[in-house]
Amino acid sequence: MEVDKMDENEWKYHGEGNKSLVVSHVEHSQVLRFLKYPAEDPGNSHKAAKEAFGHLQNIVDFSKNVMKPFLGENYVHHGEVVHLPLDFVRQLSLKVEQERPESRCDKVMDIFSGYALCLPNLTKLQTCHFSESGPPLCIEIKPKCGFLPFSSHVTKDVKHRVCRFCMHQHLKLANGKWKRMSRYCPLDLFSGNKQRMSFALKNLLQEAQNNLKIFKNGELIYGCKDDKDCLQDLNELTQHLKPYFFPANGLIHGPHCTRTVINELINVITTALLSNSGTCRTGEIRKVHISEGRAHCDASHFHRDILRKGHCGLPKDCVLSKILQAQMLDNVDIEGLHPLYNRVEQYLGEFPKERVKLQIDGPYNENCFEKLRNSQSEDDGTVDTAVRKVQQYRVAMTAKDCSIMIALSPCPDDELPEPNLVIQTSKSRLIYSVSILDLDPKPYENIPHQYKLDGQIVNFYLKSTQAKQ
Ligand code: ATP
Ligand code: MG
Ligand code: MG
Repeated sequence: MEVDKMDENEWKYHGEGNKSLVVSHVEHSQVLRFLKYPAEDPGNSHKAAKEAFGHLQNIVDFSKNVMKPFLGENYVHHGEVVHLPLDFVRQLSLKVEQERPESRCDKVMDIFSGYALCLPNLTKLQTCHFSESGPPLCIEIKPKCGFLPFSSHVTKDVKHRVCRFCMHQHLKLANGKWKRMSRYCPLDLFSGNKQRMSFALKNLLQEAQNNLKIFKNGELIYGCKDDKDCLQDLNELTQHLKPYFFPANGLIHGPHCTRTVINELINVITTALLSNSGTCRTGEIRKVHISEGRAHCDASHFHRDILRKGHCGLPKDCVLSKILQAQMLDNVDIEGLHPLYNRVEQYLGEFPKERVKLQIDGPYNENCFEKLRNSQSEDDGTVDTAVRKVQQYRVAMTAKDCSIMIALSPCPDDELPEPNLVIQTSKSRLIYSVSILDLDPKPYENIPHQYKLDGQIVNFYLKSTQAKQ
């Protein structure tokens, strides 16, 4: 990318989350990810813009030096910070404004600093040595937390039975964040049991919220921009998907068509999620079992009788297993973490200069990872241990909030890629790649808020489910 020759006409709105806004290049497989700030306080935005470079560099370092070693070399693309002409950024921000969903407009894109992250466009295939035949398809899943807390610090028993996502649904509905309840349960997706995973994926397709998006050629064709603007028509989706799974057109039609095509899609997603494409190794398939705590959630709608028949576990190097292991660095739960956070805070109150030495807010260099890998969980009462636990919790938070991108492209008949790069469906062959995105460090200062929120979610869940009984 030549930063001095930027032309806003070559970029278009791609999507956004709570913290950043993303534009994609119309031709090349690249995106720019800009920071966002609250709209109501321009003075603050100027100040924040001054800090933008450091903030973005921290994101790159954290993805590269902390998350990548946990999640695996091939899944993570950390990108780089780029400085863009302010004129370009301003023109671009005007251009994308009308595309933005209303519910996100409480924040504005950073147009003051000129800094952004440049990343590969992960809606496109990342294995580039094949001639692409046809537009790539991409499934984005934000799986959220896949285990029940096993910590002895947990005070409310319901947290050992019902997962955070399922409890949070009740509060989100009451707050008006979403209009309909999602029946998706992360524990079903992370179970490694194909039936349960299919069930989870069907529920995601029924009610996507912000946990599922599907792109064709980089364009959103299924999923929600916000609660008022959702593309959720399964028949329409089927028409998009048909050429990928049934390339010899016309072979399937009629009332079963949608079901057949959607089942093919679900099978492909399940295969990609369980494959070890991140390591490019085949062979050894060791399973990871969630030995600590229970492996199912009482709020899941999955048929109980089948559930009891056993739990499969995840192949060791598959993307779900990598994410789950990082999530499980949260091994004391927010209830066990909060006192440790207070210990760090008290220490920093006495010795404010230590904040830099303890690397609370970075820099996230190579040494960070080694320290965080230490999983010894007894608390010896020291500040060092408290800092380590706090930082491990933050890594887990990031892993609970990331997205998986599965990119698929029809495999030309004359190509013979390695078997671990193709998925065979009943009537087609697809080349695929799996990546993980949104690996920003979560702010240290957010921990008290997380503690409060956890209490609110649990109490609201108990209140609303007891009221129904
Ligand atoms: P959240 O609210 O989930 O924390 P965020 O503000 O941190 O979101 P991202 O999740 O990084 O932002 O980006 C928002 C959306 O933009 C993603 O859900 C994804 O659809 C898209 N996106 C981000 N990065 C890329 C990329 N490298 N390639 C393709 N699409 C991307
Ligand atoms: Mg995100
Ligand atoms: Mg994020």
